[in-house]
Amino acid sequence: MTALVIEHLEKTYTDAYTGDEVVAIGDVSFSVSEGEFVSVLGPSGCGKTTVLNTVAGFVRPTSGTVSVAGNQVSGPGPDRGVVFQNHALFPWKTVLGNVVFGLRMKGMGRAEREARGREYLSLVGLEGFERRYPHELSGGMRQRLGVARVLATEPAVMLMDEPFASIDAQTRRRLQEDLTRIFEERRPTVFFVTHDIDEAVFLSDRIVVLSGRPSSVREIVEVDLPRPRTWASAVDHPGFRATVAHVNGLLAEGEAEGTAADVE
Ligand code: ADP
Ligand code: MG
Repeated sequence: MTALVIEHLEKTYTDAYTGDEVVAIGDVSFSVSEGEFVSVLGPSGCGKTTVLNTVAGFVRPTSGTVSVAGNQVSGPGPDRGVVFQNHALFPWKTVLGNVVFGLRMKGMGRAEREARGREYLSLVGLEGFERRYPHELSGGMRQRLGVARVLATEPAVMLMDEPFASIDAQTRRRLQEDLTRIFEERRPTVFFVTHDIDEAVFLSDRIVVLSGRPSSVREIVEVDLPRPRTWASAVDHPGFRATVAHVNGLLAEGEAEGTAADVE
């Protein structure tokens, strides 16, 4: 079944200070199947966050539609879980408290939500940290907590906006491997936004490559890389290298066009 459908999405912002119109998204259409990992990839400022925020229901499209599990999105809802780049955790709640919060909102009883919370904390490698507070965790651990908190609610679509962008390179690779393992075990539906080509190829089943602003879909690339995936096996896999090279070419073309247009 199709978990997420985006049809002819367009978004024009009006700048709050100058009143100028900014066309952030020209025309974007794609869909994500249940249990599929799809990334949206493009340069900074091309409208990736706007696409994700429209799916989350934080931003209203200028035109076009977004549907999740067959229902048209008109605002935020518990069927979509968002993992933010900067965690957005509750600092006054414990690690376990952060994970069970969304479950309490869903009306789940205490014993059940604690069991579920512990299960997902152990899935992301945070077993034993239940009683700690977010400020006692490293950046990588906080991001694991952000992932556990969203996964625990078992949303129809998990939305991730450059969740590892501000994390050091070595930790980032470990988090990417963990996310891949979790994805392969649980098969959540994931809509992931990144500007990092290697990350997109390593994690995804398909990559939606956006052109520069106003963005449209340049190409949807299938990733030919068997699962289970680890970085050690991916880097030497011809499918990984070929896809990275192909996507690199698509983005370089987009940049060249952008430069030509800027000069005019
Ligand atoms: P990305 O996530 O790919 O970096 P964004 O979706 O954040 O891109 O932004 C796309 C474009 O829309 C940028 O030019 C940005 O400045 C503009 N933009 C984003 N949000 C707003 C807003 N609330 N008001 C005006 N312009 C915005
Ligand atoms: Mg962004």
